[in-house]
Amino acid sequence: MATKKVVPIKLAKLAKPGTAKALAPPKTRGWVTKPKPFTSVSFSRWGDWDKCPRYAHWKHILKKPEGPKNDAMLRGIFIAEQEEAYFTGKAQGIPPDIHKAHHKLFKFAKSQKTLMVEQNWGFNRQWEPVDYFDWNNCFLRIKVDFGWQDVKKNVIHLKDNKTGKFREQDNDKYVMQLELYTAGGAGMFPSAKGFTSELVYTDLGISYPPTEPMSYTMSEAKKLQKDWDKRFGRMVADETFRPKPGFYCSWCPYTKSKGGDCEY
Ligand code: SF4
Repeated sequence: MATKKVVPIKLAKLAKPGTAKALAPPKTRGWVTKPKPFTSVSFSRWGDWDKCPRYAHWKHILKKPEGPKNDAMLRGIFIAEQEEAYFTGKAQGIPPDIHKAHHKLFKFAKSQKTLMVEQNWGFNRQWEPVDYFDWNNCFLRIKVDFGWQDVKKNVIHLKDNKTGKFREQDNDKYVMQLELYTAGGAGMFPSAKGFTSELVYTDLGISYPPTEPMSYTMSEAKKLQKDWDKRFGRMVADETFRPKPGFYCSWCPYTKSKGGDCEY
């Protein structure tokens, strides 16, 4: 029987005592100190972490500057302010940037006595509502642009406004976002019978799903909470924040090609 060749273990070269190298803190998988994990989550935090954990850590935990907002972002903020002004009665008439295809929906929502606008929902890890700004107990934060309750049917309708491009390749993420809204709805309205959720591309005149909103019963919504528990569980357990080089590096503000700190 052939004997296995024993490969000698290479020991790391020790730094000379007293030198700057010897005094530097030990590195943890490329980090000078062990990185702080996420302690609270949101859909956008999770989306960033899913794209690239390193990016998410730098953006949300270390708060590394990303540079100035681009024109599309500024336009999105402007339209969102217009929408809020319309729903809260601060502005008369539907804002000019809202596509005609959505006028009926906007008018209908505004006519509802149970209209909800710019809601900041906060939850602890048991999906119980807590103050959105409770920095100790709020684990999940969800922002709902608008919605209403159909009191007769006891169904909650939730809408998320979007501007800019609709990307078919992101369908899975769109569905996940709608599912998170629904899971949050179940926490916020525990006696509701059902929920609908929809993304409204206010300036493009399209909605997702295109034909009718996603619709869920309370028991389906509770199941969605469990799905999201798993996703968030993986995210908050991450202590390495490995870079995930690929498609997203081209827009990443931390990429090497834009002078950022990432090696990719
Ligand atoms: S450049 Fe790429 S790998 Fe580096 S942080 Fe950005 S997305 Fe992640």
